[in-house]
Amino acid sequence: MIVKPKVRGFICTTAHAEGCKASVKAQIDYVKAQPHSERGPKKVLVVGASMGYGLASRISAAYSYGAATLGVIFDRAASGSRTATSGWYNTAAFEEFAAADGLYAKTINGDAYSKEIKEKTIELIKKDMGKVDCVIYSLAAPRRTMEDGTVYTSVLKTVGESYTNKTINLKDNTVSNITVEPATEEEIEATVRVMGGDDWKLWIEALKAADAIEDDAVTVAYSYIGPEITHPMYADGSIGKAKDDLFAASKEITEKGIRAYISVNKALVTQSSAAIPIVPLYISILYKVMKAHNVHEGCIEQMCRMFNEKIFCGETKTDDTGRIRMDDLEMQDEIQTEVNKLWSEISSDNLDTHADLEGYHQDFYRLFGFGIDGVDYDADIDPDVRIPSLEQ
Ligand code: NAD
Repeated sequence: MIVKPKVRGFICTTAHAEGCKASVKAQIDYVKAQPHSERGPKKVLVVGASMGYGLASRISAAYSYGAATLGVIFDRAASGSRTATSGWYNTAAFEEFAAADGLYAKTINGDAYSKEIKEKTIELIKKDMGKVDCVIYSLAAPRRTMEDGTVYTSVLKTVGESYTNKTINLKDNTVSNITVEPATEEEIEATVRVMGGDDWKLWIEALKAADAIEDDAVTVAYSYIGPEITHPMYADGSIGKAKDDLFAASKEITEKGIRAYISVNKALVTQSSAAIPIVPLYISILYKVMKAHNVHEGCIEQMCRMFNEKIFCGETKTDDTGRIRMDDLEMQDEIQTEVNKLWSEISSDNLDTHADLEGYHQDFYRLFGFGIDGVDYDADIDPDVRIPSLEQ
């Protein structure tokens, strides 16, 4: 099958197996080339391991410290004329490379919010690893189904008042104003249920109850703060309320004995961030400024630096509130001053000079395995790729 991108709205409905493999390989090569100490986690559970920050965390742990990794993913295999999801191909490739390098890597595919998947994961940990010493919680999901069948759907809206600012239409690369309406109380509650700390706490409690987590283990979940222009939409919006809840969960988990951190990461193009109004325009300006200052990072650079320079480097480095700040470079005054200036001037007419739209689009297509150097996109490839550990 010759696989081409088919973009619908914020997602691409096709993925390229060879492209995803090359992208995973490039991330592995990056981590291999970085300096790292032996002092790091050895048995790592990554919840939400197939894409973005979760995948980068898995690769960083495996290739910085030789860690055994167990990934929980929610992805689809190829069927008929449909390709698999890129998360599926990424995971298949990761397992293949890890096996070749003598690293343990297994995967559980299913809904991480469910009790069933938690039990299945813990059973595998007990059988193969005994206990985990690090849990990365990197879910970004639109909805959560509870045990009683109730479905909560998260929304990306403001809280209190509506907010109008610039946004980009990525279909025709035009800038226009968008008004984001406030979420209802019910919508805020639902967003907190999906993206807040409740499920993270359930994971840690289940691991503890089964004696499947070391007493000195560390667990990390991811958040975002960003500059003021994005606050009504993000930090002070419905997703921000969920992230506040995630932060509160980190304190609760720590009080109950397992060291838990929030890492505030950099804004990057991922399947999830592409869906947030206003943010993609901010990201494309940010890319331009950070690249010009030679401080741009992608998920793998961020996660590799988080493990090696913030967490497993003696004393964990946090801000006054106890959060790990991987947005340190993004939030530097000189970067934000330039971003602000460009933001105030940007319009459809000057996008080329004011934003790195090419970089944005490139990263978006790369999420699905397209536009990767060295991959022959005219070649006939077999989309039916297996994830080795799911065959056992
Ligand atoms: P992503 O969409 O790239 O990855 C999310 C992962 O969660 C995927 O592997 C997906 O398959 C998995 N997933 C979703 N629902 C699942 C389910 N029910 N069961 C199992 N797996 C499931 O997103 P991302 O941007 O890497 O986001 C990860 C975390 O990082 C989120 O908490 C997000 O808020 C945070 N974050 C993202 C950014 C950003 O700019 N992208 C910045 C800071 C923090």
